[in-house]
Amino acid sequence: MKVLVTGGAGYIGSHTVVELLQAGHEAVVLDDLSNAQADVINRIETITGRRPAFYENDCKDADALRRVFREHEIDAVIHFAAYKAVGESVREPLKYYRNNLDSAITLLEVMEEVGCRKLVFSSSATVYGPENEAPYREDMPALQTSNPYGWTKVMIERILKDYVTAHPDFCAILLRYFNPIGAHESGLLGDDPNGIPNNLMPYIGRVAAGQLEKLTIFGDDYPTPDGTCQRDYLHVVDLAVGHLRALEYAADHEGAEAINLGTGHGVSVLELVNAFQKVNELTLPYVIGPRRDGDLPAFWADPTKAKEVLGWEATHTLEDMCRSSWLYAKNCARK
Ligand code: UDP
Repeated sequence: MKVLVTGGAGYIGSHTVVELLQAGHEAVVLDDLSNAQADVINRIETITGRRPAFYENDCKDADALRRVFREHEIDAVIHFAAYKAVGESVREPLKYYRNNLDSAITLLEVMEEVGCRKLVFSSSATVYGPENEAPYREDMPALQTSNPYGWTKVMIERILKDYVTAHPDFCAILLRYFNPIGAHESGLLGDDPNGIPNNLMPYIGRVAAGQLEKLTIFGDDYPTPDGTCQRDYLHVVDLAVGHLRALEYAADHEGAEAINLGTGHGVSVLELVNAFQKVNELTLPYVIGPRRDGDLPAFWADPTKAKEVLGWEATHTLEDMCRSSWLYAKNCARK
């Protein structure tokens, strides 16, 4: 298959491009590099021995998308391109609604023009909102969330479902990710956000590398076994492989399917910190701070549907995630 990967230079996108190329598919990356480095394309080539075609363009740019489809016979699209910082989305909601919704709609319009009917979309466990109880299942109501970033995911899911109703020969797979962490085993690709990280693992990486003084654990008085929040952390390479399975499924199916990608296990912040220290043989300075607004105490996936429908399940351990995250963080710190 020849696959257009929007946001293919980003954290999850770049790992997915590697898996696509290594599985013998062709990849075309479109990324405006607003939160990624151009060097990622070189690194993908170093890892795979193959260089994906690369377009430095905004996904809201319909003409740029048309050009990609003109220059390549694209069979399917994986749509990652989006803003993803929860806190920023609260401060600048219009920026998030404009970018994330416009990108998705523009992409769908151009796909319709050229007759491309296979789409895998980056959704998120955030669509389950605060009302549902873990483990989250795809048949639970998924219409509540707590911030504009999350709402863009809910809204794009809705748009895709409505689009499929109007175009029943289209296939849209809505992958609801839990918490991807970890990095490529080469140490060349990983999560390296601009500025001070918001997410737990990149923050831990910077503390371990001595670039930040200490981790603050946001609250230890939650109703969980050790009082810290629990999340379903999954290795980004497992997540990338999940996209391949979704593409293969989409190739001979029609309709819209929401599918969780998670391990099915909740891990607390303290468990993650301890695993990171142990596997990497280092001490991570941390303090307990107040709760962070909007954090849910605990959630994880019911991954049954991914196994049944896609034949996918996570294979990497928490130790793999901690080891590869540190390998990548060390490399970043040396840059
Ligand atoms: N967290 C933390 N300190 C940090 C960043 C995150 O204690 O500096 C906690 C946070 O409260 C949550 C977990 O780590 O329980 C995962 O947070 P992240 O932002 O990575 O993911 P999300 O909140 O979107 O699940």
